Amino acid sequence: MGIKEIIAKIEHVKVETHDVKTFELKPQEPIAFTPGQYFLVSILSDEDLKDEWRPMTFTSLPWDKHITFAAKRMGRITHALHELPVGAQLRLKGPKGESLNFDESIKEDLVFLAGGSGITPCLSIIRYVIAKDLRNKMLLLFSNKSPKDIIYREEFDRLNQEGRITVVYSLSKEIPDDWKGERGRIDGEMIRRHVDRPKDKLWYLCGPPPMTDQLEQDLGRIGVSKERLRMESWELPGKAQRKEARDSE
Ligand SMILES: Cc1cc2nc3c(=O)[nH]c(=O)nc-3n(C[C@H](O)[C@H](O)[C@H](O)COP(=O)(O)OP(=O)(O)OC[C@H]3O[C@@H](n4cnc5c(N)ncnc54)[C@H](O)[C@@H]3O)c2cc1C
Repeated sequence: MGIKEIIAKIEHVKVETHDVKTFELKPQEPIAFTPGQYFLVSILSDEDLKDEWRPMTFTSLPWDKHITFAAKRMGRITHALHELPVGAQLRLKGPKGESLNFDESIKEDLVFLAGGSGITPCLSIIRYVIAKDLRNKMLLLFSNKSPKDIIYREEFDRLNQEGRITVVYSLSKEIPDDWKGERGRIDGEMIRRHVDRPKDKLWYLCGPPPMTDQLEQDLGRIGVSKERLRMESWELPGKAQRKEARDSE
């Protein structure tokens, strides 16, 4: 798959949560990608920002006509993205990424460990497994700061009810009194409570570096070998950002 640079027009914007929007794009030509991959985006319609590129993950399916991605408002580019009207033009460069890829050759059952907006590559794989009716059993442990931060909750709850995936939410900061899910950040103990035979699973980890680093260690202690881990730390510039990213789990 060669890397392409194309122009895409925003056709629809959906507000997902207080700080996440999904963008639906009409690409000038298709980009072939594998679930779990990402592209670089820049805002063509903004003279000051058009040469600033940021990574965003495909959440559409490879055969969809439109490309979708979900952007959490963090800093300069994501703030600008959130202000864009329908019709604005973006530049996309991709596909990129090898560490979180998924395809039908993978037969293992899958466990996704995601923090905050790190859910996007997991979402892409989950949608693909379901659309293709593959046999991989799936479990998602999804950590967020508060209920209002949980992206795609409606979709996950529906899939959970339909028995397509088991979804476990965890909240680390603002926890309602009647909360029935997990509490705190994902760790080895929480994993043990929900995952049988962890060594047999294939693990997808996506979130800020402190989270993925800690989970890699926790999984090692449970006996999961490194070959069974697919991980991507969303390494971002600056310690302030690292802290902010960790706080958003
Ligand atoms: C492979 C990959 C895939 C990704 N996929 C997605 C995705 O699907 N969805 C998504 O939402 N995100 C995704 N991300 C993360 C996304 O790329 C970043 O959120 C984005 O790059 C932030 O860009 P920005 O211009 O908005 O923020 P920037 O302006 O680059 O700032 C980022 C952060 O740094 C802080 N900051 C900025 N300037 C300063 C300063 N001077 N001092 C201290 N702090 C400062 C800001 O408050 C902000 O929190 C992905 C990242 C990677 C690596």
